[in-house]
Amino acid sequence: MVLTAISNSESFSTGTRKSMENSLNIVICGAGIAGLGAAIALRKKGHLVTVVEAAPQLQEVGAGIQVPPNSTRILKSWGLEEKFLANIVLPKNTLLRRYATGEVVGRVDANPESEQKYGYPYWFIHRADFQKILYDAATEFGIEVIFEAPVERVREDGSRTKVVLKNGEELEADLVVGADGIRSKTRATAIQNSIDVVESSHCAFRATVPAELMKADPAIAHFMTDPSSNVWMGPDSHIVGYPIRKGEMYNLVICRRGKASVGKWNEPADINEVREHYTGWEPNLRQVLSNVTSCQKWKLAYLPPLDQWISDNGRVVIIGDAAHAMLPYMAQGAAMGIEDGAALAECVARVTDLTDLPTLLRAFQDFRKPRVDIVTEAVLSNADTFHRADGPEQEQRDKRMKQQMEGTAPKTTEEKSQQAKVIRYADKDFQPWLYGYDTIKEVSNGLLREAVVANFK
Ligand SMILES: Cc1cc2nc3c(=O)[nH]c(=O)nc-3n(C[C@H](O)[C@H](O)[C@H](O)COP(=O)(O)OP(=O)(O)OC[C@H]3O[C@@H](n4cnc5c(N)ncnc54)[C@H](O)[C@@H]3O)c2cc1C
Repeated sequence: MVLTAISNSESFSTGTRKSMENSLNIVICGAGIAGLGAAIALRKKGHLVTVVEAAPQLQEVGAGIQVPPNSTRILKSWGLEEKFLANIVLPKNTLLRRYATGEVVGRVDANPESEQKYGYPYWFIHRADFQKILYDAATEFGIEVIFEAPVERVREDGSRTKVVLKNGEELEADLVVGADGIRSKTRATAIQNSIDVVESSHCAFRATVPAELMKADPAIAHFMTDPSSNVWMGPDSHIVGYPIRKGEMYNLVICRRGKASVGKWNEPADINEVREHYTGWEPNLRQVLSNVTSCQKWKLAYLPPLDQWISDNGRVVIIGDAAHAMLPYMAQGAAMGIEDGAALAECVARVTDLTDLPTLLRAFQDFRKPRVDIVTEAVLSNADTFHRADGPEQEQRDKRMKQQMEGTAPKTTEEKSQQAKVIRYADKDFQPWLYGYDTIKEVSNGLLREAVVANFK
């Protein structure tokens, strides 16, 4: 059965398109951050967008998520700043600490430096609030989100592309966007040369502590009153903590070896076992952990760079974790998904006839893949930095971090290269490339430049 045409609000004002005459019928698989972001960006260009989501409703999964300026720039451009400001914490710094003593060996400035350097702020938010803001905006803009609609496969039949749901229903679309996460059915069924997910040996354990408990204890109250992110770096493990929900709770992400199922977002974890693991860590941190009453875990996994993100007939594209799931060691996974949506909308906006689509999707892939591949790689080097065992390599790391924090110029080429690698998102060359990136401008200018899409200026 083919579902009926999508009824998006006709009163929606596109801003950038003159009319709806070139609007495509787009189905997005997955209502995560990448899927909803892409839905908003594409709808804002005047397309008819339907999102199909496997879950019965939006889920309160995960806890804190960092929103770096390369992402806040786009969210603001979609007119969502006010909604975010009602939910975020504006962090001051990221403080990199020795696990056993809490000594700060490194610091990466967040606000107001982010705005000063890149024109956009750095935010902390609860993942569920992030998704809800996108969902509310999407439905306000006339996007239909269908829950309890798990996609079984995406089928290409000549020039027709169909999303087949588990219950046998089919949705026909001009363009299918697979934003269905690391275990993407879209990737598995419609994209050639796809690669298997790589399971890391580590899990992320996530927990929150209510602000009242944190503030009532003088030893740990400062973690709430100073809105910075703390990263305790220890042998084969690190813990990240920061306040979220306008300071209502303290968010903890604990990364260390462990067992869990890949692709499941919130399996219950044994908090006593977690606490025991950290007996040798800084007392203040242990005090925070003693206030945790429940904890969920995720298996950390990632995708090595794929050969392609688009199907052979050029009508299916994957974005977000479906295309490039990465380890969370640079807080960029969701940000890359937001960038994908903005970039995709720019490319698809140039379609004047359906036959243009494959070329423009290829252009999208050519803009996005090199950037995302660099970030995926850089994230792996951060894992190595955070998890060094005590010894000469850790001492070197701490020395380089201190130099970076104090702004001491490296004396030799070797020192310069070591300092650049030690914490990639603090590096003076890498950070502007990462945080200062203007996706919409880069893609629009790129489309103007590229000979391959000369017709789509
Ligand atoms: C511990 C941890 C901390 C992180 N911290 C940060 C951070 O600070 N900053 C940051 O930018 N990123 C962070 N990330 C990464 C970020 O969470 C992900 O990159 C991002 O959520 C991916 O979004 P997505 O929409 O691509 O995929 P997902 O969030 O996985 O969403 C996919 C959606 O598709 C749905 N779906 C799946 N299969 C189907 C199907 N067959 N049919 C229909 N729907 C389907 C799912 O139910 C889900 O709603 C972190 C990740 C982890 C694990």
